[in-house]
Amino acid sequence: MSIPIKQLRNKIQVPQLGLGVYKVPAEEVYDTVATALNAGYRHIDTASFYDNEVGVGQAIKDSSINREDLFVTTKVWNDDQGYDQTLAAFELSLKKLDMEYVDLYLIHWPVPGVFTETWRALETLYKEGRVRAIGVSNFLVHHLEELFESAETIPAVNQIELHPKLMQSETVEFCVEHQILIESWSPLGRANYLTDPTLMEIAKEHHKSTAQIMIRWHLQHEFIVIPKSVRAERQKENIEVFDFMLSKEEMKRIDNLEEGFRVGSHPDSIKR
Ligand code: NDP
Repeated sequence: MSIPIKQLRNKIQVPQLGLGVYKVPAEEVYDTVATALNAGYRHIDTASFYDNEVGVGQAIKDSSINREDLFVTTKVWNDDQGYDQTLAAFELSLKKLDMEYVDLYLIHWPVPGVFTETWRALETLYKEGRVRAIGVSNFLVHHLEELFESAETIPAVNQIELHPKLMQSETVEFCVEHQILIESWSPLGRANYLTDPTLMEIAKEHHKSTAQIMIRWHLQHEFIVIPKSVRAERQKENIEVFDFMLSKEEMKRIDNLEEGFRVGSHPDSIKR
């Protein structure tokens, strides 16, 4: 079964399941992306910070897939924020990716005092047609409210750390209310609790792995999900999640795993 498509608020289409490439070394990322495209992935999530945009672009170029059939996200890093700096950082990302446009450009973290200017640069890129959609990452409700005070365009997505042990309900509800799609990063909790007894029990019931159960949980919550794996067999496993459904009761049991467990930084700890 093929990967479902979600529609962003500006009608751009995005495959609901993609491949994340954080911590994939530059020299490995070409093979990682190539095997993922082979397995059926059509959505790749990178960032200038990951230092692997060159290999991502090269693997895409060398594949036989049309550029318009792929969805590529990259992000502006904290040190590059500000209006002019962001425009320059975008040019560099595009050059490294060797592409004419990216599908989605994100502010990686809400750097205080500067993210509204960074957003203005993203709006310029969007108006110029250099990016098909713009969004944010790691924005809490108060960051979004501050952004809204000066924004002309509402972000299409908010990519946040989200997995069963960190559900971020307040941010999710606010985004749903404003038609901002949620993208879950570290959707597998960065493999920190794949042996959780509840997940194991549900996995056994469906003859699936706990990773597949977690990915299915994101999909049924209507989140966009971007699990990372450098291994071909796991990439395949992570995409084989369209032949079963979690029941309402199973979804609730997984929701109940919430315990505020973060694998990454708290957005309010980010300094200029
Ligand atoms: P994930 O939750 O995707 O977990 C990745 C880890 O799980 C890796 O160690 C991987 O190992 C392992 N893994 C993957 N699939 C399986 C499987 N089926 N069974 C067992 N282990 C598995 O964590 P990430 O932090 O990588 O998040 C995903 C993506 O989100 C990133 O790659 C990046 O694109 C994005 N991200 C965005 C951030 C932001 O600030 N906007 C911050 C962090 C991530 P292996 O590779 O060896 O298979």
